[in-house]
Amino acid sequence: MITDWEIQGVLDEIERRKAKTIVIQLPEGLKKEAVRVAGELEKKGNVHVVVSADPCYGACDLISFRGDLLVHFGHAPMPYLPDDDVLFVELSSDLDVMPLLEKALPDLKKSVAITAAIQYIPLLPSIKRFLEQMGLEVHVGEGDSRIAYPGQVLGCNFSAPKAVAEDVEQVVHIGEGNFHPLGIAMATGKDVIVIDPEMNEIRDITEFRDRILRQRHAVITDLETVSSFGILVSSKIGQNRHGLALKMKDLLESKGKKAVIFNLDNLNPDYLIGLDVEAFISVACPRIAIDDFALHKKPIITPVEAEIVLGKRKWEEYAFDEIEGSR
Ligand code: SF4
Repeated sequence: MITDWEIQGVLDEIERRKAKTIVIQLPEGLKKEAVRVAGELEKKGNVHVVVSADPCYGACDLISFRGDLLVHFGHAPMPYLPDDDVLFVELSSDLDVMPLLEKALPDLKKSVAITAAIQYIPLLPSIKRFLEQMGLEVHVGEGDSRIAYPGQVLGCNFSAPKAVAEDVEQVVHIGEGNFHPLGIAMATGKDVIVIDPEMNEIRDITEFRDRILRQRHAVITDLETVSSFGILVSSKIGQNRHGLALKMKDLLESKGKKAVIFNLDNLNPDYLIGLDVEAFISVACPRIAIDDFALHKKPIITPVEAEIVLGKRKWEEYAFDEIEGSR
């Protein structure tokens, strides 16, 4: 829920910049608030408001049409991206994680890293204090230039837990869904305990990780005889990996495969139906090949998986696809 306090923060910024037209961008879960928020901003801020109705899944996706100010709700900035005309309104969860944390104590090891999705980042200092009072050694890793806060993870970047992986036996992740903890487990090689305040549950990610790995192994094996690939590149500012797409094309062609690079903004499965290749390699958001796999009519894999298909990397060297920033 976008509160009056957050709306006042946007109004203050409109006033400070003397903005006449603003664009607001919201994640899917907050789109239902768009009409109310736009109405309040127009009435109290004396501005024209344009709502971006395209899907938005992260700060990687800052639209180019911004008016005098782009107000981007629900994500933290990616520090390396230019954002002078962007106001990020980060929204924190008000769910209490402490009861779950206390319940999880018997399953926690002596030294842990703690990580969180953006809406739980403000809780990390108090979680760290609590676990230290319980006698644990607690580490919070600094991420690279895609990451705004210590301990923060994105579905495309696990640099924060990787920075402290050598010092800990386990990672405790605060957040919803399985994708972030899956990525942490793959990127660090550590056991991951999920504290999920939305579902009010504690999960061990090991079984899920093993199931996904079996699925990915089967997909990779099936693609060994495929002869034509489409390489999917996103034009979104924080997903653009054209250089990697070119390297993939060279690698495919060096192995006698046909390769075509396709550029898209939104990687909607329907847009791929007419493209006459047997399989796709996504160098856009790393979630697409794993999370959205079942939505696609043709197999879709990550660049790391493509290297295994093409014999450049062994299965034992499997790694989660990440978009890395700099240190
Ligand atoms: Fe999220 Fe994907 Fe964007 Fe990374 S690239 S921030 S995982 S939407």
